[in-house]
Amino acid sequence: MIPAQFSYAVATTVEEAVRLLGSTPGARALAGGQNLVPLMKRRAATPSLLVDINRIPDLAYIKDLDGVLCIGAMTRDAALESSVLLKSRCLVVAETAASLGDALVRGVSTIGGNIAAGEGTSDHAATLLVLGADLVLHGPNGRHTVPIASFFVNDGMPRRRDDELIVEIRIRMPRVGSGAAFEKLARRTGDSATVAVAAALSLNDLVVASAGIGLAGVAPIPLRATEAEQFLIGKRADQATIGEAARLATRAAAPGSDVRASAEYREDMVRVLTERALFRAANRASGSVAQGEAE
Ligand SMILES: Cc1cc2nc3c(=O)[nH]c(=O)nc-3n(C[C@H](O)[C@H](O)[C@H](O)COP(=O)(O)OP(=O)(O)OC[C@H]3O[C@@H](n4cnc5c(N)ncnc54)[C@H](O)[C@@H]3O)c2cc1C
Repeated sequence: MIPAQFSYAVATTVEEAVRLLGSTPGARALAGGQNLVPLMKRRAATPSLLVDINRIPDLAYIKDLDGVLCIGAMTRDAALESSVLLKSRCLVVAETAASLGDALVRGVSTIGGNIAAGEGTSDHAATLLVLGADLVLHGPNGRHTVPIASFFVNDGMPRRRDDELIVEIRIRMPRVGSGAAFEKLARRTGDSATVAVAAALSLNDLVVASAGIGLAGVAPIPLRATEAEQFLIGKRADQATIGEAARLATRAAAPGSDVRASAEYREDMVRVLTERALFRAANRASGSVAQGEAE
C-alpha cells in the first residue's frame, strides 16, 4: 500500500528536530523507519510531517562513562550486535540486538526507535527493563532522565511528549557476580517475538541477591514478572527454584491469540523461555560462563 501524503524535513541537530516535532501536530521522528514505514504503508500511522533524525551527528555511540554504559539512541542494531564493549561488559544487549529482525532490518533499525515505538513485542524493552536502564529525553526544555520502567504504561502509549526525542540509553555496568540472558521464540527468522524473555540475576554464593525477568510479546506493553522476581530473592538458584519462578512468571503475562500463536501456547512459552533465560543468567552470574564468552 501507499502511505498517506506527508511532509518531510531533515534535522541536523537535536534542537532542530525538537523544534520541528513541536511545529506541526502529528509530526513524527524518522529513525531507521523499520517500525514507522510499514505502519505508514498500511495507513496505521499517518504522520503529517516526518522529521528525519538520521543526519544528526553524535547520536550513535556505545561508551563506558565511569561505569555507566551510554548508548546513543541512533545506534543501529548491527552496531550493538558486534560491539566489543557490549560483548565483554553487557553481553545481553548485544544478544538482544542480534535476535531482532534480520540482517537487513538490523542494519538500519535503532535502539531508540525500538523503545520509542512502544510495542509490546519490543525485544530491547524486555532487556532494558531488567537491567534497570534510564532513558535520556531531549525536549523543548532541555534534557531529563526517566527510568525505562516509567516509560511503558498500561494504556500502551510510551510516556513521552510528541516533541521529545530519546537521545541516550544508560545502563549501570553489571557488577561481578551478575549475569543476564535473552531468549526469544519467533515463528521464523526475521519475525517479531511470539514471546521473548530477558532475565538478570546477581548471586551471592549461588543465592539470588537480585532478580529481573522481562517479558515481551505477551501484553500490550513489555513488562516485568515481579512476583517471580520476588520469589527468587534469597533462594539458591537451583533447578527447583528456577522452575517455580518460571511458572510464576506466566502469571504476569496476559497474552492474546493472533496469527503467531494462541494465548495458551504463549503462556507455556513464557514458562519455557523464562526457565532457559534464568539458567543462562545464573551460569553467567556464577562465573561458569564469562559475560563475553559464547555458550
Ligand atoms: C521485518 C521486520 C522485522 C522486525 N523484527 C523485530 C523484532 O524481532 N523485534 C523487535 O523488537 N522489533 C522488530 N521489528 C520492528 C522494528 O524493526 C523495530 O521496532 C526497530 O528497532 C525500530 O527502530 P527504527 O529505528 O526503525 O524506528 P522507526 O521506525 O524509525 O521509529 C519507530 C517509532 O519511534 C519514533 N522514534 C524513532 N526514534 C526516536 C527517538 N530517538 N526519539 C523519539 N522517537 C523516536 C518514530 O517517530 C516512530 O514512531 C521488525 C520490523 C521489521 C520490518
